[in-house]
Amino acid sequence: DQTVWVLGAGQLGAMLSHAAYPLGVNVNPVDIDAQTLPQPGKNDIVTAEREQWPETPVTNILAAHQNFANKNFFATIADRFQQKSLLDKLSLATAPWQLVCDETNESQLHQKLGERVLLKRRMGGYDGRGQHWLKQAENSQIPNDWHNNAIAEKAIAFDEEISLIGVRDKNGQCYFYPLTLNLHQNGILTASVSPLERLNKYQPVAEKMLTTLMDAVEYVGVMAMECFRVGDDILINEIAPRVHNSGHWTQAGSNISQFESHIRCVTGLPMIQPSVRNKNFMINLIGCDLDARWLAVEGSELFWYQKEVRPGRKVGHINFSKTGEKNIRTALEQMEPLLPERYQETIAWLTKELL
Ligand code: ATP
Ligand code: MG
Ligand code: MG
Repeated sequence: DQTVWVLGAGQLGAMLSHAAYPLGVNVNPVDIDAQTLPQPGKNDIVTAEREQWPETPVTNILAAHQNFANKNFFATIADRFQQKSLLDKLSLATAPWQLVCDETNESQLHQKLGERVLLKRRMGGYDGRGQHWLKQAENSQIPNDWHNNAIAEKAIAFDEEISLIGVRDKNGQCYFYPLTLNLHQNGILTASVSPLERLNKYQPVAEKMLTTLMDAVEYVGVMAMECFRVGDDILINEIAPRVHNSGHWTQAGSNISQFESHIRCVTGLPMIQPSVRNKNFMINLIGCDLDARWLAVEGSELFWYQKEVRPGRKVGHINFSKTGEKNIRTALEQMEPLLPERYQETIAWLTKELL
C-alpha cells in the first residue's frame, strides 16, 4: 500500500489528508521537528506543504526520497531571486525587479524602479513578512543585513489581486480552476471569491502563463500563481509549488478540491477537469478564537486548524458556496457580527464583489 508523506504538518497537510481519505489514499503529514522519524517505503510518495524547510532529521529523510514530487523545483521557488530569474527566462511578466547585492544603494534602486520600491527577503517570507518598503520621499534605507538577501521590486499600482490554481498530471495534461479574486489586508490574504464572470476574459492568458511554467519544469500536482491585474495586463506576483490558501474555496465549490487534485496527480490516479458550482467565497480566520456560532450560519463550512491563536496568524477559514443574491447577502449579514470588528472591511469587500 502506498502512503503519501507530507513534509510539514500544518493545515495544508491536514487538508490533504482529509481530501485523500475518500480516495483510499493514506496521507501522513510529518512535523519537520518530529522526534519519531518517518520511514517511507521505497514506492511511497513525498510531497510538501511548504516551499522551504530547514535541515532536520525529518526533512533529510523526506527530501532524499526518490519519489519526492517536484523535488528540484522547490529550491528555485523558495529563493525569490531564482524564482524571478526563471519567470524572466520564460518571458512571463512580473513586477520589474533586481537583486539587492553588496553595491546596491537606495538612489540606484529608486532610479531604476521608481519612488516606491518593495524589498523582499529572498528566503522564508510569507503573509507579507520579510518585506520592507523603500520610499524615496522618506529617504528610507536598505536594512543592513538585507544586502545579498533580498530582491527589490517596483511598486505595482494594481487594480486587484487574482490567482490561478493549476493542476498538472503525470501525462503533462493541465487543468485549471476559474480565476480567484483575492483581498489582502496587511499583506495577508483575508478573503477570496470565485468564479467571477468579469474575470473570465483573463482566464485564457493566465492559463497560458501557468501552463508555460508547469510544462517548463515538468510539474506534477497543484501550483498556484498569484497575480496583479493592471488594466488588461496580468503580472505574476509569486508562485507557490503547492496547494494554496486562495484555492481553499474549491473544498466547497468544486467536485474535486485543490487538495484532492494534488493527491490524484502525485499518486498517478486518474485526473479529470474539476467542475465548479455556484458562487464561492472564503473568509480567512486570522488571530481570532473559535466561535461555534459560525456553524449556525446557513451554508458555512468551517475548517479550524487547531493551532494556537496568535495575532496575525491564520487559524482557520470558512467557505460558502451559494447561489442567489438573497442567500449570499444573508450569509454575509449573519457572519459580520460573529467576526472581529476589523472584518467589516472584509465583509464590505465581499458584498461589493458578490452582489
Ligand atoms: P504569501 O503569504 O502569499 O506567500 P508573501 O509574504 O510571500 O505572501 P507576496 O505575495 O510577495 O508576499 O506579497 C504579499 C502582498 O504584498 C501581495 O499580495 C501584495 O498585496 C503586496 N505586494 C507584493 N509585491 C508587491 C509589489 N511589487 N507592489 C505592490 N504590492 C505588492
Ligand atoms: Mg509567498
Ligand atoms: Mg503572496
